[in-house]
Amino acid sequence: MSGITSLTDKDRIFTNVYGFQEPWLKAAQMRGDWDNTAKLMELGQDTIIEMVKDSGLRGRGGAGFPTGVKWGFMPKEPTPGRPNFLVINADESEPGSCKDREIIRHDPHKLIEGALLSSFAMRARAAYIYIRGEYIQEAIAMQRAIDEAYEAGLLGKNAAGSGYDFDLFLHRGAGAYICGEETAMLESLEGKKGQPRLKPPFPAGAGLYGCPTTVNNVESIAVVPTILRRGAEWFKSFGRENNAGTKLFQISGHVEKPCVVEEAMSIPFRELIDKHCGGITGGWDNLLAVIPGGSSVPLVPAKDIMDCPMDFDGLKEQGSGLGTAAVIVMDKSTDIVKAISRISYFYKHESCGQCTPCREGTGWMWRTMEKLRTGDVAPGTIDRLYDVTKQVEGHTICALGDAAAWPIQGLIRHFRPEMERRIAEHGDELEAAE
Ligand code: SF4
Repeated sequence: MSGITSLTDKDRIFTNVYGFQEPWLKAAQMRGDWDNTAKLMELGQDTIIEMVKDSGLRGRGGAGFPTGVKWGFMPKEPTPGRPNFLVINADESEPGSCKDREIIRHDPHKLIEGALLSSFAMRARAAYIYIRGEYIQEAIAMQRAIDEAYEAGLLGKNAAGSGYDFDLFLHRGAGAYICGEETAMLESLEGKKGQPRLKPPFPAGAGLYGCPTTVNNVESIAVVPTILRRGAEWFKSFGRENNAGTKLFQISGHVEKPCVVEEAMSIPFRELIDKHCGGITGGWDNLLAVIPGGSSVPLVPAKDIMDCPMDFDGLKEQGSGLGTAAVIVMDKSTDIVKAISRISYFYKHESCGQCTPCREGTGWMWRTMEKLRTGDVAPGTIDRLYDVTKQVEGHTICALGDAAAWPIQGLIRHFRPEMERRIAEHGDELEAAE
């Protein structure tokens, strides 16, 4: 383990993430994709799973579950009539997240080759890429790349000359955030309303069409060919223990140059921003807070995030999470209560309505947040709001309930004096008006 090192060009997996080169097959092959894929498959299915386990790759879609371990849950000998499936989650609807989009439109062959290798390892003969409905140009690009892979014999019968038959399908969603939740995605793929399923059974036992299924994020699958080519140790040499690899960070908000960039996991926040984004608008003293992993994770105030390693464990220690590594930076011009209230509105809007704590709680929390913007609430409301977030968190079918609760909990934890100030000021204004 090398500790925290920042990434150099020679170690970048996504060498066309900015789209400076063509995304299509010929250019992808020049970048090293599809280089003797059949030889990689000769490693054998179990060896590939072991290599992915050894690499320390953790899911890049937010939950951070070890990818190789997840693959190990799939049956090694599929029963006739119940084939194994891989579903690739390209729904990418979490506010702030925009990395899978860049992979799909600029480096789609990394994903296709990764789909073949991952499916082979899991004994899946077919995989589905579920792409969010709003990604129209991305869906067009993805389909074009799939078509040319078929034409070149890289997909279909005897895929890439490996002797393994494999089909890859692209499926467009219809724009519901909740379809990014893995079981809602499976419902949607089956043509039903996209609503999360109760677990268990987990998808590896009964997933798509009741068959064993693994759902993985785009980035998790797209890094697999490079891990197999360069080795588990190489991948593990980036980041801290238990936080291995390189990662696409998506930095938006109050930085000089917002960007999507591949960096070593565990890079300290300040270094990430200075190196790639030209610093915070107005300078470091102007930083207010950061939402480090997409809108569902609690914010971290400036003083706590500055030297924080940007990885799963570093952000957990700050009471937040790496999520998708969608880093939303807010400077002191931000109305922080309004910002979190807007996030509350998003989750209220996207609740599928199946469970009462989420359906009713998200609406109540948002309405209360709106009143808190101006301080127009009774004394004790902050505590009541916190109680409600605790009643929603962990009491719902899927994690949307948690996603709605956590940003508010983060706000109360770190900005309670600001909320109290608004309530007091509102009270003073009412008194003066009487
Ligand atoms: Fe639907 Fe919300 Fe329940 Fe998830 S938590 S199943 S989004 S109602």
